[in-house]
Amino acid sequence: MKAWIAKVGRWLGLLKFDLLATSQPTYPDAAPLPPGKLIVVEDAGIQKWACMQCPGGCGKTLSLSLNPARRPRWGVKWDFWRRPSVEPSVHQKDDCGCHFWIRGGRVEWCADGRRRR
Ligand SMILES: [Zn+2]
Repeated sequence: MKAWIAKVGRWLGLLKFDLLATSQPTYPDAAPLPPGKLIVVEDAGIQKWACMQCPGGCGKTLSLSLNPARRPRWGVKWDFWRRPSVEPSVHQKDDCGCHFWIRGGRVEWCADGRRRR
C-alpha cells in the first residue's frame, strides 16, 4: 500500500526515486528481477542479501551480500517511503561495468560507470 502511495507521489512529482525496497525471507528466484525494486532478503531479523536488476540495462541480477562476516559487504537502510540507500557503491567489474551509488532510492552513476547522467 505504501509503495502504491509512493508511486502516486512519484507520478505527481512529489517523490523522486528509482528503487523501492521490499523485504522477503527467501532469495528471489525470479529472473530477471522486477525493475525498480531492491529486494532485501531478511530472515529472522538478519539481513542477508540485497538483490536488484542491474540498472545499466544488461538484465543481470545483482546480489549484494549484507552478511557482516563476508567481504565485500554492503549496508542497506531505507526511509519512510522505503527508498533505499546502499553503502558502499556498487561496482561491477565484469563486462557490465556499472558503477553507481544508491542514495535515497536514486541510482547515482559514477563518472567511470557505463551510464552517465
Ligand atoms: Zn549491468
